[in-house]
Amino acid sequence: MSTNPRYSFFKGVERSFDKAAKFTRFPKGILNQIKECNSTLQVKFPVLINGKVEVFEAYRVQHSHHKLPCKGGVRFSKSVNQDEVMALAALMTYKCAIVNVPFGGGKGGIKIDPSIYSVADLERITRRYTFELCKKNFIGPGLDVPAPDYGTSSREMSWIVDTYSSLNPSDLNALGCVTGKPISQGGVRGRVEATGMGVFFGIREACSIKEDMAKLGLSTGIKGKAIIIQGLGNVGYHAAKYCQQAGAIIVGLIEYNGAIYKESGLDIDEVQAYRKRNGSLLNFPGATSFEDETKGLEQPCDILIPAALEAVIHKDNAHAIQAKIIGEAANGPLTPDADDILNKKGVLVIPDMYLNAGGVTVSYFEWLKNLSHVRYGRLEKRFTENRYSDIVSSLEALTNKNVGAIERRNILKGPEEIDLIHSGLEDTMMGSYHEIRDIYINTAGVEDMRTAAFICAINKIGVAYEELGIFP
Ligand code: NAD
Repeated sequence: MSTNPRYSFFKGVERSFDKAAKFTRFPKGILNQIKECNSTLQVKFPVLINGKVEVFEAYRVQHSHHKLPCKGGVRFSKSVNQDEVMALAALMTYKCAIVNVPFGGGKGGIKIDPSIYSVADLERITRRYTFELCKKNFIGPGLDVPAPDYGTSSREMSWIVDTYSSLNPSDLNALGCVTGKPISQGGVRGRVEATGMGVFFGIREACSIKEDMAKLGLSTGIKGKAIIIQGLGNVGYHAAKYCQQAGAIIVGLIEYNGAIYKESGLDIDEVQAYRKRNGSLLNFPGATSFEDETKGLEQPCDILIPAALEAVIHKDNAHAIQAKIIGEAANGPLTPDADDILNKKGVLVIPDMYLNAGGVTVSYFEWLKNLSHVRYGRLEKRFTENRYSDIVSSLEALTNKNVGAIERRNILKGPEEIDLIHSGLEDTMMGSYHEIRDIYINTAGVEDMRTAAFICAINKIGVAYEELGIFP
C-alpha cells in the first residue's frame, strides 16, 4: 500500500477526472455536479458479540443520482473509511457509464476484519447493516442496489436480500434490492466469475490489437504472455483461471502473506489447493518464494494484474515494475504518482473502471432477471432448438446428406442462461474497450487509456445531466 499516510483515494479519482474534463465540452457547474458525491451515509450500530456490545462503523455512499438505482459493492475490511467508500462510489458511476449500464454509482462498507468473527456474528452484523440502510432509504431495487466486493460474497448478499424482503414484504421486486445473490435466492448464473472473466476479456481485447502490441514490443494474442496476479480472491482467481485457459503463462502469484514466482508457469488450481492446505503460497514446490509479498510485483512479466486493494503501486515502487501491460482488476491499485511514472515509461495501463466492470455488467443482468421474474433462456431455448432443427432437416432434404448426431446436437443447442450471460459480458467488454481506445487514438493530447475512459464516462453523464435539466 502507499506509504503516504495522507494519500486520499477520492482526491486521486478527482485528479484523474479533472485531467480528462479538459477534453470535454461541459461547463464547470455540470462537471462539479458529476464529480461530487450526492449522498453519504455514515452509521454506527451496536451488535451483541459473545455477550458484549460491539459498535460497528459503516458507510453507504451514493455518488450519482443521474440514473437510479445507484449500484456498487459492499466491502468488509479493516481499512474501510469514508474517503475510500466515496472514491469507490465515484468509480462505480464512471464504470456504469463506460459499459452502458443504466445506474448511478454507489458503494458501501463496514470497517471490520471479517476473519475474526464467526459466521453467526457476521450474519448479525450484515443484517443489522441492512436494517440501517432500510431505515435511511439507502437500499431498494429502484434506489440503491449493493453487490459483493472485497471481503463479501453471495453469502452476505443472501442475508441482505432476506433482511430487506422481511422489512418490505409487499415489494414485488424485493429480489432486485441486491445482486450477486446465490441462484436459489434470485441470483443469476455467471455472476461469481463475472469480474474475473471480464478482466480476461478486456486484456484479451487489448492484446489482440497489432499496432498497440507492436509499440510495447509484444506479439498479438494472450497465448504465451507471462502474467503476474496479485490477490487470489474472487476477481484474481477467476482472472488467472481464464487467462491460463487461453494459454497465458501464470509466472507469479501474490497474496498478503507472501509471493511466488516460476518462469515456466504455475497452475492456478494447484497453487490454490496448496494455499488452502498451508495457509500461504510460500515454499510452493519449484517456485521462488518472497516473504515480502510486494517483491512479487517487481518480477519480470508481460502483464501485471493487481486484484487486491488500492494504492499497491505507488511512487516508491512504480519504477521497479517490469510489466509492459497493467490490467487494473482491483479498484485504484495505482496512485496518481504511480500512474504518471508508468505512463512515462510507456506501460499500457488498462484502467479499473473499464477492466473490472464485468461484475456490474452481470449484476445488471441479474437485476433485470429479478424485475422480469423470469430466467434467461426460458422463453426462447426450445423455440430456437425447434427452428434450428427445421433448418437442418430442410438442408438435409435439399442436399441428400445427413449431419452426424453429435454435430446435430451442437447446431441445435438453444441458449441456456449461462450462455447468454457470458456472451452479453464478452460483447460488453469488447465493445467498451474500442469505445475508450477510439477516444485515446482520436483525441489530440490524450496520452493514456485512463484519461480516455474518464472522457468516455463524462461525455455520457454530462449529456444525461443536460437532458435531465437542473432543478431550478
Ligand atoms: P476478495 O476478498 O474475494 O479477494 C481479495 C484477495 O486479495 C484476498 O485473497 C486477500 O487475501 C488478497 N489480499 C489482500 N491484501 C493483499 C495484499 N496486500 N497483497 C496481495 N493480496 C492481498 O475480493 P475481490 O472481490 O476479489 O475484490 C478484489 C478487488 O477487485 C477489490 O479492489 C474490489 O473492489 C475489486 N472488484 C471486485 C468486484 C467483484 O465483483 N468482487 C468487482 C469489481 C471490482
